Amino acid sequence: PLYVANPTRYENISYRRCGKSGLRLPPLSLGLWQNFGAVDSLQNATNMLHKAFDLGITHFDLANNYGPPFGSAESTFGQVMATSLKPYRDELLISSKAGYDMWAGPYGIGGSRKYLVSSCDQSLKRTGLEYFDIFYSHCMDPETPIEETMQALDYIVRSGRALYVGISNYSPEQTSKAIAILKDLGTPLLIHQPRYNMFDRWIEDGLCDVLLKEGVGSVVFSPLAQGFLTDKYLGGIPQGSRASRSEQIYLNAEHLTQDKIAKVQKLNEIAKLRGQSLAQMALAWVLNNPAVTSSIIGASKVSQIEDCVKALDNLEFSQDELSQIRKIIE
Ligand code: NDP
Repeated sequence: PLYVANPTRYENISYRRCGKSGLRLPPLSLGLWQNFGAVDSLQNATNMLHKAFDLGITHFDLANNYGPPFGSAESTFGQVMATSLKPYRDELLISSKAGYDMWAGPYGIGGSRKYLVSSCDQSLKRTGLEYFDIFYSHCMDPETPIEETMQALDYIVRSGRALYVGISNYSPEQTSKAIAILKDLGTPLLIHQPRYNMFDRWIEDGLCDVLLKEGVGSVVFSPLAQGFLTDKYLGGIPQGSRASRSEQIYLNAEHLTQDKIAKVQKLNEIAKLRGQSLAQMALAWVLNNPAVTSSIIGASKVSQIEDCVKALDNLEFSQDELSQIRKIIE
C-alpha cells in the first residue's frame, strides 16, 4: 500500500531553534544506530520511519558504520527514501557522520580530509541522497590537526555534499577550537552531538556553557541510556531487549548493576507520580537542559516511538521533582 504521511503531523509538536541558526529541530529525533541494519527486518525499519515522521519527527540520524554490517543502516534508509519517503525529502533533516572505524587501512578511520570526504561520498551513494542536511565529524581524532578536520567539513558544505556541519563527542576545549576555526572558514558550527542522560551528565561540566555562549545547538544521544532508563529492566533482562542480544558490547548484563537498578526503581516511582512512563520522564529531563535542542532516541518497535513522543505532553518539572531526581542520580 502506498504511504501517505499523516496530514496532522505538525499539529502537536513544537520545533526548537538549533542554537542561533535558522534551523529548527524536532524535540525528539530518531537514530538508526541499531535495529536498521541488514540483519534487521526491513518492514519493521520502514514502519518505524513512517511512524516517526507521522508524529512530527523530521530528523533522522545516521552514521557510515551503523548496521550491522557497517553501511547497512544507510542502505536501509536509502531504500525507504527511494520509495515511500521520496516525496518528503524537503521536509526531512538527514544527518550522517564519519570518524570511527569504517573500512580497512589508514583512510577508513579518524579525522583526515581523505577519510571524511570519501566516506561522505559513500554515505550519499548508500542513502541515494544528493546531500546531507548535517554532516558530522563523529569523534575528535587526536592524531589529525583539528584544522584539517574542520577544513574537510567546510569543504563538504562548499562542494554541496551537506548543508550544515556538526561535531560529536568533542570535549569543551576541542569544541571551542572547532567553533573558532569553522567561524573563520565561514561555515559556522551548527550542532554538537554528545551523549547525555540521567546517568551520564558529562556535558554539564563545561560543554553546555560553551554551546550556550557560542549559540551552538545540541542533539543528545542515548537519552534512555540505551533502554536502561525505562521500566524494561526492572525485573531482569527481558528476551529481545538490547542487553539480551549477544552481539552487544555497549549494553549488557555487566552494565546493569544492582546499584543502578535501585536508582532506576526510585526514578520510576517519580515518573509514576508525574503520570509518565520512566522513558517519558527521562526524555523530558534531558530536554529541560537549556543547552539541549533535541534528543535522539533509538527504537526497536513502533510502539516505543509512540510512547516516547508522549513525553512531549509534560516537559515541565517542579523544583521539588528536580531536586528529588538529583538526589537519586548524584
Ligand atoms: P536510547 O537511549 O534512546 O536507547 C534506545 C533503546 O531504548 C531502544 O532500542 C529500546 O531498546 C529502548 N527504548 C526506546 N524507547 C523505549 C520505550 N518507550 N520504552 C521502553 N524501551 C524503549 O538511544 P540509543 O542508545 O539507541 O541512541 C540513539 C541514537 O543516538 C542512535 O541511533 C544514534 O543515531 C545516536 N548515537 C550517536 C552516537 C555518537 O557517537 N554520536 C553514539 C550512540 C548513539 P530495545 O532495543 O531493548 O527495545
